[in-house]
Amino acid sequence: MKYHVNENCIGCGLCAGMCPEIFRMNDVGVAEALDLETDLDTAEEAMDSCPMAAIEQE
Ligand code: SF4
Repeated sequence: MKYHVNENCIGCGLCAGMCPEIFRMNDVGVAEALDLETDLDTAEEAMDSCPMAAIEQE
């Protein structure tokens, strides 16, 4: 599945720490998800752990 970070992201960095293969912090300090399919458990765990529920599945 693919992931998307929405506008609720507060830039805490948790997702990028948990799953750097998919999530990274951008120049303005919020997270972005790479546009690729993945079945990594860590990506799903990051989505479930986001304090703002800002990570969505596409
Ligand atoms: Fe943003 Fe959620 Fe990632 Fe924190 S865990 S950087 S709030 S998307």
